[in-house]
Amino acid sequence: MWLTGGQWFDVEAGTFRAGDILVERGRVAGIGAAPAAGDRIDAEGRWLLPGFIDNHVHITLDTRVAAGDNIWRDALPGAIALHAAWNAKNLLRCGVTTARDVGGWDYHEIAVREAIDAGLIEGPRLFCAGRILSITSPTSPYYPGMYEEVDGPAEVRKGARRQLAMGADLIKILATGAVNSSERERADAIQLRPDEIAAAVEIARDNATHVAAHAHATEGVRNAVLGGCRSVEHGTYASDETRRLMVERGTFLVPTFCTAHAFLKDPAFAERALPHVRERYETLEALRRDQLAKAREAGVRIAMGTDAGTPGNHCGDNMQEVVLMVEKCGFPPVDAIRCATTAGAELLERPDLGRIAEGGTADIIAVPRDPLEDIAALHEVDLVMKGGRVFRDDRA
Ligand SMILES: [Zn+2]
Repeated sequence: MWLTGGQWFDVEAGTFRAGDILVERGRVAGIGAAPAAGDRIDAEGRWLLPGFIDNHVHITLDTRVAAGDNIWRDALPGAIALHAAWNAKNLLRCGVTTARDVGGWDYHEIAVREAIDAGLIEGPRLFCAGRILSITSPTSPYYPGMYEEVDGPAEVRKGARRQLAMGADLIKILATGAVNSSERERADAIQLRPDEIAAAVEIARDNATHVAAHAHATEGVRNAVLGGCRSVEHGTYASDETRRLMVERGTFLVPTFCTAHAFLKDPAFAERALPHVRERYETLEALRRDQLAKAREAGVRIAMGTDAGTPGNHCGDNMQEVVLMVEKCGFPPVDAIRCATTAGAELLERPDLGRIAEGGTADIIAVPRDPLEDIAALHEVDLVMKGGRVFRDDRA
């Protein structure tokens, strides 16, 4: 089947090119001129991009709830999985064809991943972390299905192995406290210590996968990077020194810039949150904007991640992260798009993803305007192909 008449984005060159794309058996089989007859999708007037990769989502969370406390306390069995399936569909429809779920809930997200892979429901290609490995923490009661408490290297190893046994693709750890947490937890406190992080990384490496480390505080970022974690999530208080270390070690930063914007954009919604959580979000946007600018300047590898799942940060709104990187953080559109395509593919070690190229997986999305001229065109995705199959086509 050919996709004809569109402009396709050459992610390495950073430009759109004219050319028809041949899709066969889920892959891009060639780019050139389609024959006059045959199976085709007319993409005339469309700008075609590789499917986007969001490296930080939580599909089991309900983003319509502002309160930080256990949102699923009164949920019926099955409600969480159904909610996660709905979120997965929203991710795919907005143009996210691959996502890394870095903290699920009682493995419902892994069931959703398997249902997607089996063709029962629609969603992106998911890479799941299972439960998040956390120290004994006052926040565990907020997230009883999401946190697994582990203290000391032996418990960390066991916790990591348990996630893998439940079908996790990677390991997620808390190197520091969190924003959306108990008032008794400091976001800038150190959590898992270097010997515990090393234990998680050992088990990940034993199993040919990686560790994603949630880290706000400078020392937590340093611990994560020196410990061999593949990615630092958030990186709110990274320093010149830790950025240099990240460049040296090739550690990815997954900035999750849009969380504060998503949380605060509706004042009535933010008003319903716990006051200490609201206060933390209020200081976050300026910190993260500064972080992103410095990380880009320092040459840190940046992979797009939204943290979709945090309050107000809905699955389906994911393109807002890329748009904000351009509009608020000074990224050239080409760089922001690369963060959401090739950089994500490198983080996941999936060179077949994140680019439209012969031999690559045919994940292709379309927008009706040139996103290099107006990045907000990304909000208007109207055609989504994943693995050579069209899941959305609402073109007028
Ligand atoms: Zn998160």
